Formats: sequence, C-alpha cells, structure tokens
Amino acid sequence: MCGIFAYLNFNVSRERRYILEVLFNGLRRLEYRGYDSAGISIDSSIYSGSDLNRQIFTPPLVFRQEGNIESLVKSVYQDVDATDLNLEESFSIHAGIAHTRWATHGEPAPRNSHPQTSDAGNEFLVVHNGVVTNYEVLKETLVRHGFTFESETDTEVIPKLAKFVFDKANEEGDQSVTFSQVVIEVMRHLEGAYALIFKSRHYPNELIACKRGSPLLLGVKVSCMCF
Ligand code: GLU
Repeated sequence: MCGIFAYLNFNVSRERRYILEVLFNGLRRLEYRGYDSAGISIDSSIYSGSDLNRQIFTPPLVFRQEGNIESLVKSVYQDVDATDLNLEESFSIHAGIAHTRWATHGEPAPRNSHPQTSDAGNEFLVVHNGVVTNYEVLKETLVRHGFTFESETDTEVIPKLAKFVFDKANEEGDQSVTFSQVVIEVMRHLEGAYALIFKSRHYPNELIACKRGSPLLLGVKVSCMCF
C-alpha cells in the first residue's frame, strides 16, 4: 500500500527548505504502510515580471527515487546543490505533493515512481494510491491522440488525461475551465479504486485531491490573529 501526501501553505510564508522537510516528514509517517520508491514535486522559482499581477510560473520540479525515503532525501539535496536551488526562497503560497509507491504496474524504478506527469513541461502531475483498472484502453486512446508514455504504470494515464481535457477545453474556447472541473472530468473516465492528488502548472498554488474507494484525510490548520 502506498501513501500520498501534500502540503499547501496559504498566506503564510514558508521557505523552500521548510516545505521540503514537511513533505519528507509526511512520507516518513507513511513509511509503515510499506513502499519501494518515493517522490515529490515542489515549485521552481516564481519570476515576477515588471507587472506583479503577471507572474511567470516555470515548470514544477519533480524528484523520484527507487528505494527508501532517505535515498530520496539524499538525492533531492544533491540536486539542490548541483542546481544552486535556493532553499531560503520564501513562498507565501505553495503547493507540494509527495508519494511512497508500492508498485502494482511496472517495476520499482525512477521512471515508474510518482509524481507521474502529463508531459516534459510537467503541466499536470499526479500522485496515486490504488489501481486504475481500465488504464490500457485509456492509454490506447491517449496514444492515438499523440501522447507518448515513459512509464509502465497505470497511473501515467491520469495526468495525461488531465492535459487532454484541459487542452480540449481551451481549444474549444473555454479558457475559464477550473482545476476541479478538469479533475471531475478525468474521474468520470477512471475505473478502479484510488486516491489522487493533482498539481498543475496551469493552476499554481492549487491542489485537487479526490478519491474513490481509497482513504484520504484532509487537515486544515488555521491561525487567527486577535486584536
Ligand atoms: N498503481 C500505481 C503504480 O503501480 C500506484 C501503486 C501504489 O498505490 O503505490 O504506480
């Protein structure tokens, strides 16, 4: 049984180092369930142009490792060093996702670890607990529409389906399609038992979690200032 975990800080400033540690600790707490690989996704830097209302969001960063959580932690910090990623950068809103995988489709390997992605630009990312029983037919359809697959997982159809739904809505002129509308449409096509968390470059600072059959717990911490 795998574990999915997400952390969204909203209107409370958190440094990238803190966000990473929350995600790693979330995964450590799920370790008892058993797993063979692990992964996370966090935001890369957000560039604000001269117009502060028009921030440019670069693709989210994805880290995936076969083996235990500490191997993931080690490889993330190695990549951080190699790429000079700023651990002190602060985010007043940030959506991070994490996963421990127990392989059902595809051997334990970085390419089969989650988050699974829609494309090279990480437009949609998904962590998944469970099995999509109709993934073969969905995969055939997506391949016919030009998608290429990198993993042997059943999960990879999910972010690709989200991109397909999003692109189709936009092609049809519906540029106001919401993240939850995209996910609801994706769910209509999935069979099996699952809990999912979606992250998207098109909907920065938002996460969508959904489930059918599998357990999912949502926690909200509210700090209030009293005068
Ligand atoms: N079926 C998915 C996979 O093999 C998810 C397995 C899990 O729940 O960890 O990647």
